[in-house]
Amino acid sequence: MNQDDPTLADRRVLIDSISDYLEQITEEGLEGVPFEPRPMAAAVADAIAAASPARPAKPPSKAPVQAGRELFSSYPGLEKTETLEALREFIGDCTRCKLAPGRKNLVFGVGNPKAELMFVGEGPGADEDERGEPFVGRAGQLLTDIIERGMRMRRQDVYICNVVKCRPPGNRNPEPDEVAACEPFLMRQIELVRPQVIVGLGTFAVQSLLKVKIAISKLRGRWHDVRGIRMMPTFHPAYLLRNPSDKRLVWADIQEVMRALGQEPSNRQS
Ligand code: SF4
Repeated sequence: MNQDDPTLADRRVLIDSISDYLEQITEEGLEGVPFEPRPMAAAVADAIAAASPARPAKPPSKAPVQAGRELFSSYPGLEKTETLEALREFIGDCTRCKLAPGRKNLVFGVGNPKAELMFVGEGPGADEDERGEPFVGRAGQLLTDIIERGMRMRRQDVYICNVVKCRPPGNRNPEPDEVAACEPFLMRQIELVRPQVIVGLGTFAVQSLLKVKIAISKLRGRWHDVRGIRMMPTFHPAYLLRNPSDKRLVWADIQEVMRALGQEPSNRQS
C-alpha cells in the first residue's frame, strides 16, 4: 500500500482496517490508552501495519522519546539523571514498594546503554534475583538464543530489563501499586537508552507498557506505540519453554523487528 498516494482501493482497505481495529479493541475490553491520549494517527498506523505486508525497513535512527513528565513528579530528581549509572544510583537500595523486603538483589538491567533494541520483561525470577541480572535462567538462555542465534546480534549489544526491578514473591505477577512505584524507573531507562525498537516479552510486560487488558495472543505480531517508540509484543521465553510450538510465532515477530532495524532476517528459527 502506498500511504503517500492511496488509491481508492487502498482507502477502502484502510477504512476497513481501522474499523476492524476499533471493533477489535472495543470487543476485547480496552480499558485505557498507553500513558497519554493516543492520537488517532497512531491507531491508523497500527491498522495499516496490521493490514500491510512487511514493508522494507527504514534505515535505523534513534527514536525521539515522547515522555510524560507527570510520571516523574513523585520522584523529584529522577528527570535529572542523565545516564543509566546515575539512574541506578538514584534508585539506590529502593524501598518504594512492598517488593523490597523479599528481594536478594535489585535487578536493574543489562546491555548496551545506547542499544537500538530493548527487551522488556515482567520482573525478575529466582535466578535473576540471585544474580542481580535479568533473563539469566532457562528462559533467559532462550532469549539469548533468540538474540544471538536468531537475530545474529550479541546479547551485550541490546538492552534487557523488566517492568519491576525486584522479584515478586513466588513469581506472582507484580501488583498495580508495585508497577506504579517502579514504572518511572522503566520509563527513565527507556528515555536514556532511547532504543529504536522495544520488544515486550509476555502478557504482563506488554499489558503494563500499553495499559490494556488484551491477551498477548491478540497483541503480538503487530506494532504498537510506547511513548513514540515502536513496540513489538511477543510471547515470553518462559511461555515458549512450555509451548515450544509457538516458537514460530515469536520468530515471525522477531523477523519483523529485524526488518525494522534494517536487518535482513534469515530463515533460521532459534
Ligand atoms: Fe523499588 Fe521497583 Fe524494587 Fe519496588 S520493585 S522496591 S519500586 S526498585
